[in-house]
Amino acid sequence: MDQPHAVLVASPGLGHLIPILELGNRLSSVLNVQVTILAVTSGSSSSTETEAIRAAAARTACQITELPSMDIDNLVEPDATVFTKIMVKVRAMKSSVRDAVESMKPKPTVMIVDFLGTGLMSVADDLGLTAKYVYVPSHAWFLAMMVYLPVWDTTVEGEYVEIKEPLKIPGCKPMGRKELVETMLYRSDQQYKECVRAGLEVPMSDGVLVNTWEELQGNTLAALKEDEELSRVMKVPVYPIGPIVRSKEHVEKPNTIFEWLDKQRERSVVYVCLGSGGTLSLEQTIELAWGLELSGQRFLWILRRPASYLGSSSIDDDQVIASLPEGFLDRTCGVGLVVTQWAPQVEILSHRSIGGFLSHCGWSSVLESLTNGVPIMAWPLYAEQWMNATLLTEEIGVAVRTSELPSERVIGREEVAFLVRKIVAEEDEEGQRIRAKAEEVRVSSERAWTKGGSSHSSLFEWAKGCRLVS
Ligand code: UDP
Repeated sequence: MDQPHAVLVASPGLGHLIPILELGNRLSSVLNVQVTILAVTSGSSSSTETEAIRAAAARTACQITELPSMDIDNLVEPDATVFTKIMVKVRAMKSSVRDAVESMKPKPTVMIVDFLGTGLMSVADDLGLTAKYVYVPSHAWFLAMMVYLPVWDTTVEGEYVEIKEPLKIPGCKPMGRKELVETMLYRSDQQYKECVRAGLEVPMSDGVLVNTWEELQGNTLAALKEDEELSRVMKVPVYPIGPIVRSKEHVEKPNTIFEWLDKQRERSVVYVCLGSGGTLSLEQTIELAWGLELSGQRFLWILRRPASYLGSSSIDDDQVIASLPEGFLDRTCGVGLVVTQWAPQVEILSHRSIGGFLSHCGWSSVLESLTNGVPIMAWPLYAEQWMNATLLTEEIGVAVRTSELPSERVIGREEVAFLVRKIVAEEDEEGQRIRAKAEEVRVSSERAWTKGGSSHSSLFEWAKGCRLVS
């Protein structure tokens, strides 16, 4: 008998390909199924994207097929956001995806799309596949918000950006202005309409796989399943199968970062990195530098060019470094390390000397931190990171956050220093509580994926349900 075959479709952009790839790796290694990943490329002929896909293909047991995306300029407004363009692009690819899936041997029986690819699910029906699923590489509260948005769409009056009272999701934490997802702030924007559409399409699948685990978000997962109103909207089963995180990358040694980290005390260093694309204003970069210095704590800072330099190809790394306060590097020499290249983040977060993570709270970064027991200083910038920051500070208790959204106000040096000390300085009581909780979460994340653990069992329940395993 042929090995069962699942096809996974990744929306354009590395940020979407990586989670699908990690899911594919998990399915192939744990369930021993054949996995083909259809990677819809962004069409920007980006060499980084192509190289990353090739590199990923060399390291995975999954088959990766690139699908060059179509030109959609005539389908979107010239000022459409990246989110809108992705949703429209993915829908426009339906017949190419259909042709690609139809030509696969053996024929896949299960199709998984990511949450931006819900417009492709009808391909599974057209080709008579056994089942179709959505993978949400984010958390359960985000999923609840996603499927409940169509209800708000008909009940909430005015613009979300102006709400005075937090919006309610049955059985879940309400969402105030500080939690709302960037893409839903303005109703007239097409990206809002795309969010509502995705919220309506997710429940048309046969189920949702979500990158969280029972012990981390038990209440929200229970609400999705059992709350009368929310479960009526959710309609289909939800399978928490997280944490699914990138495995450690191979790092060539000697390496400056690890030589430096090796010399530091256990859990003493704050790692500062704002994701794959997060940038700060020049003013904020300077305040952050002063704050790190003022904190007196050790730091490893993955410095990106300030936003005002973006698009200027003449700016090199030396000039990015030169944007730091005068004398900063000399004064912090030995205490801090500033790096401008792409960082091996998974490897860094698992180093024994890392004690805290100043993070933009992208969910992958969050999981990479929590699976290593590293507490977070939340610095949310865009997308659903605002709600992630609230989840981490107010519900899970593994983070501290800035008093206001860093995307809306420059966070001053004193506040930076105060928060940095809180997560890594040993004498602070609240910090101790947060660090203890982060360790507890690390243990539960490991347990979830041991044999018989909650996520392991959930994955097998799902796989049996769609007959990928017997
Ligand atoms: N990342 C990395 N090195 C860097 C910056 C980012 O390895 O210098 C990785 C990080 O480990 C994570 C991903 O890029 O896996 C970022 O994903 P996340 O969801 O945290 O945020 P996004 O960049 O998508 O906003």
